[in-house]
Amino acid sequence: MRKNIVAGNWKMNKNLQEGIELAKELNEALKNKTVNCDVVIGTPFIHLASVVNSVDTNKIGVSAQNCADKESGAYTGEVSAAMVASTGAKYVILGHSERRAYYRETPETLKEKVKLALANGLTPIFCIGEVLEERESGKHFDVVKSQIEASLFDLSPADFGKIVLAYEPVWAIGTGKTATAGQAQEMHAFIRKTLVEKYGKEIADNTSILYGGSANAGNAKELFSNPDVDGGLIGGASLGVDKFMPIIEAF
Ligand code: PEP
Repeated sequence: MRKNIVAGNWKMNKNLQEGIELAKELNEALKNKTVNCDVVIGTPFIHLASVVNSVDTNKIGVSAQNCADKESGAYTGEVSAAMVASTGAKYVILGHSERRAYYRETPETLKEKVKLALANGLTPIFCIGEVLEERESGKHFDVVKSQIEASLFDLSPADFGKIVLAYEPVWAIGTGKTATAGQAQEMHAFIRKTLVEKYGKEIADNTSILYGGSANAGNAKELFSNPDVDGGLIGGASLGVDKFMPIIEAF
């Protein structure tokens, strides 16, 4: 059966020392606790190796927030999926709306990134979601479906089975405006139906679909109580253990 996952996305926050400290604090908070979800933290690249060495990786999975769309070579400034994996990180967030919008990531480059992540044993947390205008004009289902189709639907069933999806309505990210539990469930159920049609019920039922967009301690329980919401991708509220732990404990 699919896993519940609460994943933090630190974005471009915390210097190395602050990041190690936050990771250690979270590790301490989880030490003698049994929680009902997998916990992941998505750190900047330069933090990965140190954070892996600062936490119990049986309790906290470490994630990058991106990787290159090329295997290796003359791509100055890029970080490959193999490099990410060599730090001990197990996940990589791909297709975040900030990367699609600000760094012009396309469905085609994302397709390459997903393949390289999988080839290097990383679990992609693949983000999809519509902008406000698309929702207001009733195009949100089509937009999300085409994002999934364009970057993921050439994967074999076995490879698709390794993907985690994160539905993140762009209008809800960092805005304090959360999708209602009903809006989240409606879209997650639609996504799962789309997966059933392509890969069949078993793979669709086993795919974790996270919600992201201003999730916090106050709304996590209601969001996670939906049958098709299998956890959260958490930005702002993952930057402090006091805010992140209650979300983990919402399961
Ligand atoms: C995110 O960055 O993926 C996110 C959901 O951010 P926030 O929780 O701050 O809206």
